[in-house]
Amino acid sequence: MQTPLLPDRINPWQLAAENGRLDGELPLTALPRLAALLNDAGGVVRVALAAGTDGQGLPFIGGALRTEIELICQRCLGPLRLALDVPVRLGLVHSEAEFDRLPDEYEPLLVPENSASVTDLVEDELLLALPQIPSHADPQECEANDYGTPGPAALDAENRQPFAVLATLLRDSKRSN
Ligand SMILES: [Zn+2]
Repeated sequence: MQTPLLPDRINPWQLAAENGRLDGELPLTALPRLAALLNDAGGVVRVALAAGTDGQGLPFIGGALRTEIELICQRCLGPLRLALDVPVRLGLVHSEAEFDRLPDEYEPLLVPENSASVTDLVEDELLLALPQIPSHADPQECEANDYGTPGPAALDAENRQPFAVLATLLRDSKRSN
């Protein structure tokens, strides 16, 4: 079965008006801001999004993004595989002034012009879904990576968290106003 190709750019307003879909896969390497934070940028994101207009006449894009990524555990600094299943519920707005009018179940997608990048959209949603401080759920996995043994790697911990800051910045910029 062939994977359908995703367009580079879409007109979200038109996609919503036509009840269009975005189905396909994107390599993680196509998402540079995310890939820079990963220990291993192999793999793909499965995109399954549908656009439409809700009962209140609001244009939206909803669905899910699924991927498996590898981060660095902030406790033991060992590799941490993480499956992400990210629900997407974006309400389209022309300007930041419209953020307040969007019902709570939507996250705003600012589309001032009739064009939006599909990779940016997917990448923003995945960045927001990253854990602030990724760590193994099972402490035994950290022990398997010699956690507790002091070493030069431990000094690196502070420098390994740029993505936590990035995700916070992104969230603040999206939710302000
Ligand atoms: Zn760990």
